[in-house]
Amino acid sequence: MDPCSVPLCNVVTPVDNGKLDFDELWLNFTIDFQPIVMPSSSDLRSFKEALASSKNILILSGAGLSAASGIPTYRSADESLWNNFDPTAYATPQAFAKDPSGVWRWYHNRRKEYLKAKPNNAHRALATLALPSALSRIAPCSMSQPLHITQNVDSLSLRLLESLSPEAAEGLIEMHGSIFVTKCTSCQKVMRSYAPSLASALDGDEDSNAKRDVPLCQLPKCGGDSWAGSNRYGNCGGLLRPEVVWFGEMPPLMGEVSRKMSQCDLLLVVGTSSTVLPASSFATQVKANGGKVAVFNLNRSTGDDEADFLFLGPCETTLVDALGVEDDIKDM
Ligand SMILES: [Zn+2]
Repeated sequence: MDPCSVPLCNVVTPVDNGKLDFDELWLNFTIDFQPIVMPSSSDLRSFKEALASSKNILILSGAGLSAASGIPTYRSADESLWNNFDPTAYATPQAFAKDPSGVWRWYHNRRKEYLKAKPNNAHRALATLALPSALSRIAPCSMSQPLHITQNVDSLSLRLLESLSPEAAEGLIEMHGSIFVTKCTSCQKVMRSYAPSLASALDGDEDSNAKRDVPLCQLPKCGGDSWAGSNRYGNCGGLLRPEVVWFGEMPPLMGEVSRKMSQCDLLLVVGTSSTVLPASSFATQVKANGGKVAVFNLNRSTGDDEADFLFLGPCETTLVDALGVEDDIKDM
Protein backbone atom coordinates (compact mmCIF):
# COMPACT_ATOMS: atom_id res chain seq x y z
CA MET A 1 0.00 0.00 0.00
CA ASP A 2 1.23 3.47 -0.83
CA PRO A 3 2.32 4.98 2.53
CA CYS A 4 1.03 8.36 1.44
CA SER A 5 -2.52 6.98 1.17
CA VAL A 6 -2.70 5.60 4.76
CA PRO A 7 -5.42 7.49 6.62
CA LEU A 8 -4.15 9.45 9.64
CA CYS A 9 -6.23 7.40 12.13
CA ASN A 10 -4.45 4.22 11.05
CA VAL A 11 -1.00 5.48 11.95
CA VAL A 12 -1.84 6.81 15.44
CA THR A 13 -1.19 4.16 18.08
CA PRO A 14 -3.96 3.91 20.70
CA VAL A 15 -2.54 4.23 24.22
CA ASP A 16 -4.02 3.86 27.75
CA ASN A 17 -6.55 1.14 27.12
CA GLY A 18 -7.33 2.11 23.59
CA LYS A 19 -7.85 5.87 24.11
CA LEU A 20 -6.12 8.16 21.69
CA ASP A 21 -3.57 10.52 23.17
CA PHE A 22 -4.73 13.70 21.51
CA ASP A 23 -1.83 15.73 22.89
CA GLU A 24 0.53 13.34 21.20
CA LEU A 25 -1.59 13.37 18.08
CA TRP A 26 -1.48 17.19 17.94
CA LEU A 27 2.24 17.19 18.63
CA ASN A 28 2.79 14.73 15.80
CA PHE A 29 0.54 16.74 13.57
CA THR A 30 2.32 20.02 14.19
CA ILE A 31 5.75 18.48 13.81
CA ASP A 32 4.81 16.63 10.63
CA PHE A 33 3.35 19.71 8.96
CA GLN A 34 5.84 22.40 9.96
CA PRO A 35 6.98 24.08 6.76
CA ILE A 36 10.65 23.47 6.10
CA VAL A 37 12.35 26.87 5.79
CA MET A 38 15.77 26.69 4.23
CA PRO A 39 18.12 29.49 5.22
CA SER A 40 18.76 32.06 2.49
CA SER A 41 21.88 31.62 0.48
CA SER A 42 24.37 34.37 -0.26
CA ASP A 43 26.37 32.09 -2.52
CA LEU A 44 27.08 33.96 -5.75
CA ARG A 45 27.65 30.82 -7.78
CA SER A 46 24.26 29.33 -6.81
CA PHE A 47 22.56 32.63 -7.59
CA LYS A 48 24.22 32.87 -10.99
CA GLU A 49 23.09 29.32 -11.76
CA ALA A 50 19.51 30.25 -10.82
CA LEU A 51 19.77 33.37 -12.96
CA ALA A 52 21.14 31.40 -15.91
CA SER A 53 18.29 28.87 -15.83
CA SER A 54 15.39 31.32 -15.25
CA LYS A 55 12.92 32.02 -18.03
CA ASN A 56 10.77 34.78 -16.56
CA ILE A 57 12.80 37.15 -14.41
CA LEU A 58 11.16 40.11 -12.70
CA ILE A 59 12.69 42.95 -10.72
CA LEU A 60 10.91 44.84 -7.96
CA SER A 61 12.83 47.87 -6.70
CA GLY A 62 12.32 50.33 -3.89
CA ALA A 63 13.91 53.37 -2.33
CA GLY A 64 17.22 51.64 -1.52
CA LEU A 65 17.95 51.50 -5.26
CA SER A 66 18.23 55.29 -5.40
CA ALA A 67 19.87 55.86 -2.00
CA ALA A 68 23.37 56.07 -3.53
CA SER A 69 22.06 58.71 -5.95
CA GLY A 70 21.39 60.98 -2.98
CA ILE A 71 17.65 60.45 -2.86
CA PRO A 72 16.79 59.69 0.75
CA THR A 73 14.71 56.62 1.54
CA TYR A 74 11.39 57.03 3.24
CA ARG A 75 12.46 54.81 6.09
CA SER A 76 16.16 55.60 6.57
CA ALA A 77 16.84 56.29 10.20
CA ASP A 78 18.56 59.68 10.14
CA GLU A 79 18.14 61.71 7.00
CA SER A 80 14.68 60.58 6.06
CA LEU A 81 12.83 62.71 3.61
CA TRP A 82 9.76 62.08 5.69
CA ASN A 83 11.33 62.46 9.13
CA ASN A 84 10.21 66.03 9.58
CA PHE A 85 7.28 65.62 7.32
CA ASP A 86 3.86 64.17 7.79
CA PRO A 87 3.16 62.25 4.53
CA THR A 88 -0.54 62.85 4.86
CA ALA A 89 0.15 66.61 4.82
CA TYR A 90 1.00 66.61 1.09
CA ALA A 91 0.73 63.11 -0.39
CA THR A 92 -3.03 62.62 -0.37
CA PRO A 93 -5.83 63.71 -2.73
CA GLN A 94 -7.47 65.45 0.23
CA ALA A 95 -4.35 67.54 0.90
CA PHE A 96 -4.23 68.56 -2.76
CA ALA A 97 -7.88 69.56 -2.75
CA LYS A 98 -7.38 71.61 0.42
CA ASP A 99 -3.97 73.17 -0.30
CA PRO A 100 -2.88 72.73 -3.95
CA SER A 101 -0.31 75.52 -3.53
CA GLY A 102 1.39 73.76 -0.59
CA VAL A 103 1.41 70.42 -2.39
CA TRP A 104 2.84 71.94 -5.57
CA ARG A 105 5.54 73.89 -3.69
CA TRP A 106 6.66 70.64 -2.08
CA TYR A 107 6.68 68.67 -5.36
CA HIS A 108 8.34 71.54 -7.22
CA ASN A 109 11.31 71.39 -4.83
CA ARG A 110 11.48 67.57 -5.02
CA ARG A 111 11.54 67.78 -8.83
CA LYS A 112 14.52 70.14 -8.69
CA GLU A 113 16.34 67.78 -6.29
CA TYR A 114 15.59 64.68 -8.34
CA LEU A 115 16.74 66.36 -11.57
CA LYS A 116 20.18 66.86 -10.03
CA ALA A 117 20.44 63.16 -9.10
CA LYS A 118 22.27 60.72 -11.37
CA PRO A 119 21.72 56.97 -11.75
CA ASN A 120 24.13 54.87 -9.66
CA ASN A 121 25.70 51.49 -10.37
CA ALA A 122 22.63 49.63 -9.09
CA HIS A 123 20.48 51.35 -11.75
CA ARG A 124 23.19 50.55 -14.31
CA ALA A 125 23.46 46.90 -13.26
CA LEU A 126 19.70 46.42 -13.68
CA ALA A 127 19.75 48.29 -16.98
CA THR A 128 22.23 45.76 -18.42
CA LEU A 129 19.40 43.22 -18.34
CA ALA A 130 17.68 45.40 -20.97
CA LEU A 131 20.62 44.93 -23.34
CA PRO A 132 20.07 41.80 -25.48
CA SER A 133 23.81 41.04 -25.66
CA ALA A 134 24.26 41.19 -21.89
CA LEU A 135 21.01 39.35 -21.17
CA SER A 136 21.96 36.45 -23.42
CA ARG A 137 25.17 36.06 -21.42
CA ILE A 138 23.74 36.56 -17.91
CA ALA A 139 20.39 34.82 -18.30
CA PRO A 140 20.46 32.82 -21.56
CA CYS A 141 17.16 31.04 -20.83
CA SER A 142 15.27 34.30 -20.29
CA MET A 143 12.40 34.47 -22.75
CA SER A 144 12.31 38.28 -22.85
CA GLN A 145 13.79 41.40 -21.30
CA PRO A 146 13.10 41.15 -17.55
CA LEU A 147 10.35 43.54 -16.53
CA HIS A 148 11.49 46.03 -13.89
CA ILE A 149 8.73 47.24 -11.59
CA THR A 150 9.87 50.17 -9.49
CA GLN A 151 8.17 51.85 -6.58
CA ASN A 152 10.44 54.87 -6.97
CA VAL A 153 9.02 58.08 -8.41
CA ASP A 154 12.42 59.60 -9.28
CA SER A 155 12.49 58.18 -12.86
CA LEU A 156 16.24 57.49 -12.52
CA SER A 157 15.81 53.98 -13.95
CA LEU A 158 13.63 55.26 -16.79
CA ARG A 159 15.99 58.07 -17.76
CA LEU A 160 18.86 55.59 -17.92
CA LEU A 161 16.87 53.08 -19.98
CA GLU A 162 15.66 55.86 -22.31
CA SER A 163 19.32 56.72 -22.96
CA LEU A 164 19.93 53.10 -24.07
CA SER A 165 16.98 52.60 -26.41
CA PRO A 166 13.19 53.09 -26.63
CA GLU A 167 12.78 49.28 -26.38
CA ALA A 168 14.80 49.17 -23.16
CA ALA A 169 12.54 51.82 -21.61
CA GLU A 170 9.48 49.69 -22.34
CA GLY A 171 10.72 47.13 -19.82
CA LEU A 172 9.97 49.40 -16.86
CA ILE A 173 6.79 50.00 -14.91
CA GLU A 174 6.76 52.99 -12.55
CA MET A 175 4.25 51.47 -10.21
CA HIS A 176 3.81 54.56 -8.05
CA GLY A 177 4.01 57.01 -10.93
CA SER A 178 6.70 59.64 -11.46
CA ILE A 179 7.36 63.06 -10.05
CA PHE A 180 8.01 64.14 -13.66
CA VAL A 181 4.55 63.16 -14.88
CA THR A 182 1.48 65.33 -14.49
CA LYS A 183 -2.19 64.76 -15.11
CA CYS A 184 -4.67 67.49 -15.92
CA THR A 185 -7.49 67.46 -13.38
CA SER A 186 -9.82 68.76 -16.09
CA CYS A 187 -9.10 67.00 -19.42
CA GLN A 188 -7.07 64.13 -17.82
CA LYS A 189 -4.16 64.55 -20.25
CA VAL A 190 -1.05 62.82 -18.86
CA MET A 191 2.30 64.39 -19.72
CA ARG A 192 5.94 63.79 -18.85
CA SER A 193 8.37 66.71 -18.55
CA TYR A 194 11.90 66.97 -17.20
CA ALA A 195 11.70 70.76 -17.14
CA PRO A 196 12.86 72.04 -13.74
CA SER A 197 9.84 74.27 -13.37
CA LEU A 198 6.26 73.82 -14.51
CA ALA A 199 5.14 77.29 -13.44
CA SER A 200 7.28 80.40 -13.02
CA ALA A 201 5.32 81.39 -9.92
CA LEU A 202 6.88 78.41 -8.10
CA ASP A 203 10.46 79.55 -8.80
CA GLY A 204 12.55 81.23 -6.16
CA ASP A 205 14.54 80.00 -3.24
CA GLU A 206 13.17 77.11 -1.26
CA ASP A 207 12.84 78.88 2.09
CA SER A 208 10.73 81.73 0.79
CA ASN A 209 8.89 79.32 -1.46
CA ALA A 210 7.89 77.23 1.54
CA LYS A 211 5.97 80.13 2.98
CA ARG A 212 4.43 81.59 -0.15
CA ASP A 213 0.85 80.91 -1.12
CA VAL A 214 0.72 80.70 -4.93
CA PRO A 215 -2.69 81.61 -6.40
CA LEU A 216 -4.49 78.74 -8.12
CA CYS A 217 -4.29 80.39 -11.55
CA GLN A 218 -0.47 80.56 -11.28
CA LEU A 219 0.05 76.88 -10.36
CA PRO A 220 1.09 74.39 -13.08
CA LYS A 221 -1.71 74.26 -15.59
CA CYS A 222 -2.66 72.39 -18.75
CA GLY A 223 -1.00 74.36 -21.56
CA GLY A 224 1.61 75.89 -19.24
CA ASP A 225 2.23 79.51 -18.27
CA SER A 226 1.51 80.60 -21.84
CA TRP A 227 -2.01 79.13 -21.89
CA ALA A 228 -4.24 81.64 -23.67
CA GLY A 229 -7.82 80.56 -23.12
CA SER A 230 -8.06 77.43 -25.26
CA ASN A 231 -10.13 74.55 -23.97
CA ARG A 232 -8.55 71.89 -26.17
CA TYR A 233 -7.39 68.53 -24.80
CA GLY A 234 -3.86 68.97 -23.47
CA ASN A 235 -4.19 72.77 -23.55
CA CYS A 236 -7.31 73.40 -21.53
CA GLY A 237 -5.97 75.55 -18.69
CA GLY A 238 -6.98 73.00 -16.04
CA LEU A 239 -4.96 72.53 -12.84
CA LEU A 240 -2.28 69.84 -13.15
CA ARG A 241 -1.51 67.35 -10.38
CA PRO A 242 1.64 65.29 -9.91
CA GLU A 243 0.89 61.85 -11.37
CA VAL A 244 2.18 59.92 -8.37
CA VAL A 245 0.18 57.42 -6.37
CA TRP A 246 -0.85 59.16 -3.18
CA PHE A 247 -1.84 57.56 0.09
CA GLY A 248 -5.31 56.14 -0.28
CA GLU A 249 -4.98 55.70 -4.06
CA MET A 250 -4.65 52.34 -5.82
CA PRO A 251 -1.55 51.91 -8.00
CA PRO A 252 -2.56 51.43 -11.63
CA LEU A 253 -1.32 48.41 -13.59
CA MET A 254 -1.58 46.11 -10.54
CA GLY A 255 -3.47 43.57 -12.66
CA GLU A 256 -0.66 43.46 -15.21
CA VAL A 257 1.97 43.22 -12.47
CA SER A 258 0.11 40.38 -10.76
CA ARG A 259 -0.22 38.52 -14.08
CA LYS A 260 3.52 38.85 -14.68
CA MET A 261 4.22 37.64 -11.13
CA SER A 262 2.18 34.50 -11.76
CA GLN A 263 4.62 33.55 -14.56
CA CYS A 264 7.79 34.61 -12.76
CA ASP A 265 10.39 32.02 -11.80
CA LEU A 266 12.97 34.44 -10.36
CA LEU A 267 12.09 37.67 -8.56
CA LEU A 268 14.86 40.12 -7.71
CA VAL A 269 13.79 42.36 -4.81
CA VAL A 270 16.14 45.37 -4.81
CA GLY A 271 16.41 48.12 -2.22
CA THR A 272 13.32 47.18 -0.29
CA SER A 273 12.44 44.57 2.26
CA SER A 274 10.77 41.44 0.96
CA THR A 275 8.46 41.54 3.98
CA VAL A 276 6.82 44.92 3.35
CA LEU A 277 3.91 45.27 0.96
CA PRO A 278 3.79 44.99 -1.99
CA ALA A 279 7.07 43.05 -2.15
CA SER A 280 5.84 40.56 0.45
CA SER A 281 2.75 39.61 -1.53
CA PHE A 282 4.75 39.37 -4.78
CA ALA A 283 7.42 37.21 -3.11
CA THR A 284 4.74 34.95 -1.65
CA GLN A 285 3.05 34.65 -5.05
CA VAL A 286 6.31 33.78 -6.82
CA LYS A 287 7.31 31.23 -4.17
CA ALA A 288 3.85 29.63 -4.22
CA ASN A 289 4.30 29.07 -7.95
CA GLY A 290 7.66 27.38 -7.36
CA GLY A 291 9.78 30.41 -8.29
CA LYS A 292 12.76 31.78 -6.42
CA VAL A 293 13.23 35.12 -4.64
CA ALA A 294 16.53 36.99 -4.29
CA VAL A 295 16.74 40.02 -2.00
CA PHE A 296 19.35 42.79 -2.36
CA ASN A 297 19.01 45.21 0.50
CA LEU A 298 21.18 47.27 2.82
CA ASN A 299 19.95 45.69 6.02
CA ARG A 300 18.31 42.46 7.02
CA SER A 301 14.57 42.55 7.73
CA THR A 302 12.60 40.01 9.68
CA GLY A 303 11.41 37.40 7.23
CA ASP A 304 14.08 38.07 4.59
CA ASP A 305 15.55 34.71 5.61
CA GLU A 306 12.71 33.06 3.76
CA ALA A 307 14.09 34.39 0.48
CA ASP A 308 16.12 31.85 -1.48
CA PHE A 309 18.97 34.32 -1.82
CA LEU A 310 19.85 37.25 0.41
CA PHE A 311 22.62 39.72 -0.43
CA LEU A 312 23.07 42.34 2.28
CA GLY A 313 24.92 45.59 1.66
CA PRO A 314 24.70 48.55 -0.71
CA CYS A 315 22.87 47.28 -3.78
CA GLU A 316 25.12 49.36 -6.06
CA THR A 317 27.83 46.87 -5.04
CA THR A 318 25.99 43.61 -4.42
CA LEU A 319 23.98 43.77 -7.66
CA VAL A 320 27.03 44.45 -9.81
CA ASP A 321 28.79 41.43 -8.29
CA ALA A 322 25.78 39.13 -8.43
CA LEU A 323 24.96 39.93 -12.06
CA GLY A 324 28.64 39.99 -13.05
CA VAL A 325 28.30 43.26 -14.98
CA GLU A 326 31.39 45.21 -13.91
CA ASP A 327 32.49 45.69 -17.52
CA ASP A 328 29.00 46.28 -18.95
CA ILE A 329 28.29 49.29 -16.74
CA LYS A 330 31.55 51.14 -17.46
CA ASP A 331 30.23 52.96 -20.52
CA MET A 332 26.70 53.68 -19.26
ZN1 LIG B 1 -6.27 69.74 -19.62
